[in-house]
Amino acid sequence: EREELLKLKTQKDETKDGTKIGLYANIGNMSDLSSVLFYGASGIGLLRSEFQYLGRENYPRENELFHAYKKLAETMGERTAVIRTADLGADKQASYLDIPAETNPIMGNRGIRLCLDRKKMFKAQLRAIYRASAYGNLAMMYPMIDSEEEMDQIEEIIQEVKAGLDEKEIPYRNIRTGIMIETPAAVMISQELARRVNFLSIGTNDLTQYTLAMDRQNPLLKDKYNDHHPAVLRMIKMVVEAAHQENRQAGICGEIAADTELTETFLQMGVDFLSVVPACILPVRKAIRETDLSSQRG
Ligand code: PEP
Ligand code: MG
Repeated sequence: EREELLKLKTQKDETKDGTKIGLYANIGNMSDLSSVLFYGASGIGLLRSEFQYLGRENYPRENELFHAYKKLAETMGERTAVIRTADLGADKQASYLDIPAETNPIMGNRGIRLCLDRKKMFKAQLRAIYRASAYGNLAMMYPMIDSEEEMDQIEEIIQEVKAGLDEKEIPYRNIRTGIMIETPAAVMISQELARRVNFLSIGTNDLTQYTLAMDRQNPLLKDKYNDHHPAVLRMIKMVVEAAHQENRQAGICGEIAADTELTETFLQMGVDFLSVVPACILPVRKAIRETDLSSQRG
């Protein structure tokens, strides 16, 4: 059976009726790139960039980040690579970051909230991403967004970053941007959020824990945690419809994207892309290719 799957390495991500689906890989660091290429993913849908900030003594410098992203861009070539800006917080810590302990880090000052408090750190990352954008097909997205005000702040910082690069005549591309939909609030305003960017990427790992009000790490809730909860599935559908209203793409990058029991359901909802761990690329590709949407979708 593995041999059958391996034959799919060079096949397209297309349903029986010819609907093209984006099938991307989730990675934690650059060493995962070889398996992404091996399995023939069409790109990177989620680079969890915070890992480069962890397990070290001081902030990564802009240049260090730039070189890592440049390598990512060059390795992927024409294929897209989405960098998720640092999703740090009291749960993803390093001592130099000096993030105060919190009673409830899951509900805490994490993701974009922390980055907007630490403008210098955030700006260094954005500058590194823009500088590297000249070398390939990079995109970026923001974690844990729950308001338009956060987008106002981000847009302002991006203008500053671009002005700084222009001033020094450093080349960059106007890369595609996206918002992660990870909170019920973001779901409810997903149409407004879609207008701000090129795509929405649903982070169902966090979205599920916030919707069910269940810590995804709590062992006591293991048997009660239902990641197929109809509330979550309905939210995915809402987000896809909101994005499409605004002519934007919407996909899923949480673990559930790799669940082949749901592939057909997601595609029927109109999901444009799925982003999964490299080892799941081929099983999901198989499920996509076995799906027939001709009776459901115009
Ligand atoms: C998610 O929340 O679904 C997600 C993809 O981000 P992370 O798992 O890194 O929180
Ligand atoms: Mg998340």
